[in-house]
Amino acid sequence: MKPILFIDRDGTIIEEPPEDFQVDSLQKLRFLPKVLRNLHKIRHLGSFEWVMVSNQDGLGTPSFPTADFEAPHQKMLNILADEQIFFDSIFIDKTFPHQQSPTRKPGTAMLTGYIDKPDYDMENSFVIGDRLSDMQLALNLGCKGIWIAHKPDYEALAHYLKQSNNKNLREKFPIITQDWDEISNFLLAQGAAKAEPVPLERKAHISRQTHETTINIDLNLDGSGRSNITTGVGFLDHMLEQLAYHGKLDLDISCIGDLHIDAHHSIEDIAIALGESFRKALGDKRGIARYGFFALVMDESLARVSLDFSGRPYLTWQVDFQESMLGTMPTSMFKHFFYSFAVHAQTSLHICVEGENAHHQIEAVFKAFAKSVAIAKTIESNRIASTKGVL
Ligand SMILES: [Mg+2]
Repeated sequence: MKPILFIDRDGTIIEEPPEDFQVDSLQKLRFLPKVLRNLHKIRHLGSFEWVMVSNQDGLGTPSFPTADFEAPHQKMLNILADEQIFFDSIFIDKTFPHQQSPTRKPGTAMLTGYIDKPDYDMENSFVIGDRLSDMQLALNLGCKGIWIAHKPDYEALAHYLKQSNNKNLREKFPIITQDWDEISNFLLAQGAAKAEPVPLERKAHISRQTHETTINIDLNLDGSGRSNITTGVGFLDHMLEQLAYHGKLDLDISCIGDLHIDAHHSIEDIAIALGESFRKALGDKRGIARYGFFALVMDESLARVSLDFSGRPYLTWQVDFQESMLGTMPTSMFKHFFYSFAVHAQTSLHICVEGENAHHQIEAVFKAFAKSVAIAKTIESNRIASTKGVL
């Protein structure tokens, strides 16, 4: 059973203009202090269903044309999405107060899909809002209220509730505050909130030692493109630097291998360890986009890479090199590199490249691979991107 956050919009996420209570232009769009960082925290560390519930008096009438509402509303949603904050559903009531519509807060007629449903844990759900009608909605739904009591009219009542000896009242309204830090700390301390977190850090350290190679890899999927690569194979260093830079990874790789024989063991084992580091850093893959694809040119060469962090390894390789060596790296080893990576990262990987110059061809492949990784690793929700529920 999933707890729900019913979150008000005006006065709760964005400021409510005191003159007419309508956010009907971009100039009036302003977020509450600390709200973005705390919504991000609650979205990614909590496991709540997120529902926005807002009364917009007379929306769609001449007093509040739809276009005037949509511009700042969409801008707000875009800014929230940039911070990886997503609502599962948005309910907007458009009636005037005098119409006394059951859909208007504190009425619950828009929210019947959540009431008395076995999937939802209403007792441990919260309405977060700034008006008494939001708190009344919490009572009507049978959940609890988090009151952002920043209107001067509410000062006395807020003080009374905070000081109240009435245990029932304190349980119904556990937080009365103007501070979003306090709200997120409270919500994330709830046991139910911590069930399925998206990890804030996606890092892996892999240390791998055999009779042929000693390899250490540090990978941060949410890096800045910084790398420190010493594999002993100069051309491979150059390619892995491209992977870090264009994939926005932080990547440290050191390898001491039996290069007195040839580069085979080093290249193969680096690919294995790199694949393992991806699999470890991706964790259960909650929230990631999963798919990535990119086409990239380098002079006469055109590379196309598609990948799926699917849990199922696969490689297709349509690459034809006219040169057999690039520096000390045999070009035949690139297929083996990507095959070993795909197997150990449990990733489906399709690579093809046209062109004549082997350096251009493989550099285009690594850059297109990096760009595909950057897309596929992006956190875009708090769900597993599969109808099976597992990746
Ligand atoms: Mg409000």
